[in-house]
Order: sequence, then structure tokens, then C-alpha cells
Amino acid sequence: MMGKAVMARTSISGFEKVQFRAGMLSLAGKVAGRAMLDLVLPPRCLACQARVATPGNLCGRCWQGMAYLAAPVCARYGTPFSHDLGEGGLSARAIMDPPVFDKASAVATYQGIARSLVLSLKFNRRRDLAEPMGSWMAQAGRELIMPETLVIPVPLHRFRLWQRRFNQSADLARVVAREAGLDWDPMLLQRARRTRQQVGLDSSARQTNVRGAFKLRNGWENQVHGRPVLLIDDVLTTGSTVAACTKVLRKAGAVSVDVLTFAVAVNEDGHEDR
Ligand SMILES: [Zn+2]
Repeated sequence: MMGKAVMARTSISGFEKVQFRAGMLSLAGKVAGRAMLDLVLPPRCLACQARVATPGNLCGRCWQGMAYLAAPVCARYGTPFSHDLGEGGLSARAIMDPPVFDKASAVATYQGIARSLVLSLKFNRRRDLAEPMGSWMAQAGRELIMPETLVIPVPLHRFRLWQRRFNQSADLARVVAREAGLDWDPMLLQRARRTRQQVGLDSSARQTNVRGAFKLRNGWENQVHGRPVLLIDDVLTTGSTVAACTKVLRKAGAVSVDVLTFAVAVNEDGHEDR
């Protein structure tokens, strides 16, 4: 598990001054390098490849095509209301079917540009998207973050990991943790068994499919005890995957489990294919 470096700062030593100067030189080098790179490879929109002014951004048109979430949203599922229920308001779903996790937050609803970014990250080998998407998530989830929060991605089964070569949720979790200055651990939560793809399964079939599908790494169970956990995934659909993860984390003594995803499905069109 990766710990945060805690440094006691006293006075600036000569060594640090040299390091600072070296750092400024390397920064100047980076800026010059960036300018050179922009000449050769001008920055492109993350979604449509149109020219943009700064790298890691969307063009104006795609930006408008993102269904960004903004208050007021359901206090539990983070889904938008069709009309304002005020702060702390609950959606019908949260009242009828309260989630086992505490709160969920997302950057946007799972449609339009947000959906294509999620699919590109996962299936088109656009791992570079994890950087901007993770930064937006850290921003969207700032109310879920406490200094002692432990960031944990929803894991992939090792067979799926072998097929895809990377876990998109772990890529996002790494960026969220770095941006928020939090501990993260991509190895703590594991798949206990392979599950069917969730696509095409109804809500109760999805729950059965992921029941008992997760476990904590043997011997590491106490890492979660007494800590708030922030679970990271790319999309929140029915919530059955994160619910199964939440149960494992709570059993191990997590004081709270919140969920931060890039997108949240607002109807049944979303799919949780892993
Ligand atoms: Zn664009």
C-alpha cells in the first residue's frame, strides 16, 4: 500500500536551493518542450480531435455535449432531478431502493460525449483519457473526500485484466488520489471469481451475478478498518457492482463507503460491461 510522504520542513538548505534551481531549469525545459511539441502535434480535443488551445481539454462543441452534473442532485445516488427538490433531497429510487453505499457522485450523466469518453478509455486503448477524466472526478467528488480517505478502484478479474492489459478504474483512481492527495490501493480489493458481463441482465440478475464476487487481499483486511473509503469506477449503472464491493469493505470495518464515478446512468441504457 502506498503511503503519503510526510516531511518535516525546517529551513531551506543549500542542497534544496540547488534542487530548486534544477527544478526551475527542468520546468523551463518542459515549457520549451511543450511549445515545440505544440508546433509538431497541436493539442486536440479529447473527444473529436478538433484543434484546441490547451492539451487535455474538450473543444467548445464537445464541452456542450457533456451532460455535466450540478446541484441539486439526489443526496444518495447523485442522479439529477427533473425538478429541484433542494439540498439533501432524495430521488424516488433512493427512497424505494436505498443504496448500501453512503453517497455517489459523478462528473456527468452517461450519455453523449461522457459516454464516448468512457467507452474510448475502456475499449479504444485511450488510456491517456484517464488523466483529464480523473482530474474532473477529483473535482466532482471533493465533498466525498476527507484527509484519511482511502481510494480503491473496482477491480477487474485477472483474466479480464490480461485481456485488456489495464483496469480503467485503477487508472482513474490513481489520478483521483494524486489530485486529492489521498492514499490509494489498486490491489486491496480483488475479484474472488469471474462474473458474467452485466450487460443485458436485469437488476436482480445483476445482484446475483456479483454476489460474493469480491474479497480483500488475504492478510490485508485490516488496511480498511476505521477508514473512510472512496470506491472508484468509470460508470455507475444499477449500482450492483459497487454494492457488492461496499459490503466487503464495510465487513472489514470501513467507516463509510462513498462512490465516485466519471458518469452515472440516468436510465437503463447504461451498461456495466467489465
Ligand atoms: Zn471536440
